[in-house]
Amino acid sequence: MTRADEVAAALAAVEQRLARACTAAGRDRREVVLIAITKTRPVEDAVALAALGVRDLGENRDQEAAAKAARAAALGHPGLRWHFVGALQRNKAASVASYASVVHSVDRTSLVRALSAGAEGAGRRLTVLVQVSLDGDPARAGAVAADVPAVGDAVAAAAGLDLGGVMAVAPLGVDPARAFAALAEVSARLRADHPQAVGISAGMSGDLEAAVAAGATYVRVGTALLGLRPPVSR
Ligand SMILES: *Cc1c(COP(=O)(O)O)cnc(C)c1O
Repeated sequence: MTRADEVAAALAAVEQRLARACTAAGRDRREVVLIAITKTRPVEDAVALAALGVRDLGENRDQEAAAKAARAAALGHPGLRWHFVGALQRNKAASVASYASVVHSVDRTSLVRALSAGAEGAGRRLTVLVQVSLDGDPARAGAVAADVPAVGDAVAAAAGLDLGGVMAVAPLGVDPARAFAALAEVSARLRADHPQAVGISAGMSGDLEAAVAAGATYVRVGTALLGLRPPVSR
């Protein structure tokens, strides 16, 4: 089996899981965007997915993402939408704003100002999701629920940015159904002030069904599409 065949088979399996999850939840498959998380993977994997019709790709480190987005475009895939899902630092905001369509990981207002300046500088508009910490630990990535409205207000008011909704990673050891139900509540509260912020980014390889059941509009799938990643060393 070639790598392209392998990726095609994995994509078919993920699509089948998504289709079943949507049917079980009484939802239309078209309500859920599949983002293929290509972090640590070579650009050839991203291109193989693009050739199979996957337009939404996700990365979590700026340097790797910037290079991969440029390479994929150079290899004849200019129309991809890159989603930035990783920890974001202010000094990387301008770079991320130059290639990303959606930034899923904004959890503080200082990042909002930096991304807005980056978007304006690049002459682009970015969709921004507020990352929510579902275990309420302020040391972890994500705004605690009580801080989400302030971050959302800042995004909605910022030039060059569109508030798109919320994002979360289910905490380890917590039932993902409960975690995503909590995220859906945070989303509903945000939508009361910002009706356009309908996006819910939730669900990965291990818990995409629970996310779809709880209303996810984006799922972020890496391992189930491209296999296990090498262990992280930073
Ligand atoms: C790596 C990553 C994913 C994909 O996780 P898998 O378990 O490989 O599907 C999703 N979301 C974020 C934020 C990630 O960093």
